[in-house]
Order: sequence, then C-alpha cells, then structure tokens
Amino acid sequence: MPPKPFEPVVFASAEASAWAPLLAAAWAAREQAHAPYSGFRVGAALIRRGGEVVSGCNVENASYPMCTCAERTAVCAAVAAGMREGELDAIVVVTTADTLTPPCGACRQVLAEFAEDLPILLDNGRERALHHLNALLPFSFTGRNFRPAP
Ligand code: ZN
Repeated sequence: MPPKPFEPVVFASAEASAWAPLLAAAWAAREQAHAPYSGFRVGAALIRRGGEVVSGCNVENASYPMCTCAERTAVCAAVAAGMREGELDAIVVVTTADTLTPPCGACRQVLAEFAEDLPILLDNGRERALHHLNALLPFSFTGRNFRPAP
C-alpha cells in the first residue's frame, strides 16, 4: 500500500479560508477560457507543495477532440514549472453552470498521476462542494501498477 499523500488540514472543509487564493485564481483563469464553440467556460487552480498556485482554463479547438479541460491545462503548466508526483496538494474547479462541474474522466486520470487522494473543491458561485479524487476515481491506474517495487 503506497503511503497516503500529504493533505494539508487547511483544505479539510469546503469553507476553509485556504481555498480563497485558489478560488480567486480559478475564477480569473475562467475569464481567459477559449470556448468559442460551447461557451462553457471553466477555470481551475491548483496548489503545489510549497504553496505556488497554478491556474488553467479550458481551450477548445475547431477539431473538437483536441479540446483540453481547465484541470489538465493547470496540471501541464504546473509540470512545466517543476511539479512532480506527490507535489499536488489541492485543486479548485469553477464554472457558472447550474450544477457543480466535477473533473471529467480524463482529468481524473491525469490528476491521479500526481495525487490519488487529491482534495477537489467545486464552485459555481452559488454552491460549493469538496470531494476527494480517490472517491471520484477509485482503484485508479498509476505507475505503481507496472513499475518494479523499489
Ligand atoms: Zn476534463
């Protein structure tokens, strides 16, 4: 059994003040979304071990399968800035949809690469909910499934 990823207690509730900088970054990133086809704008912001906040937005494309979600653009930006496995502490996903918008299946898989028990806060400006990735993607497939034991 791999060690449980570090989860700062500051992200233990949906109303915790520690979410404020991530929420602000996610809403700001949502404004940058490239969503000319769906109009569905999504913002995300994650926090790396050490406290750096990295944001992302959805980027659509005329070739629809090439669209990229906000969560994955945030992860890619964080990796480019040096984030590695086990260094992702929390993520926020914001939209103005009537219902909260959880990460899609592809994003759940990408997030699991970095933190299988990731706290995920969803917000639509009217309600908020805190989930954990291991509940949204149980029995996930990661490098431990094929890497030789250390
Ligand atoms: Zn997604």
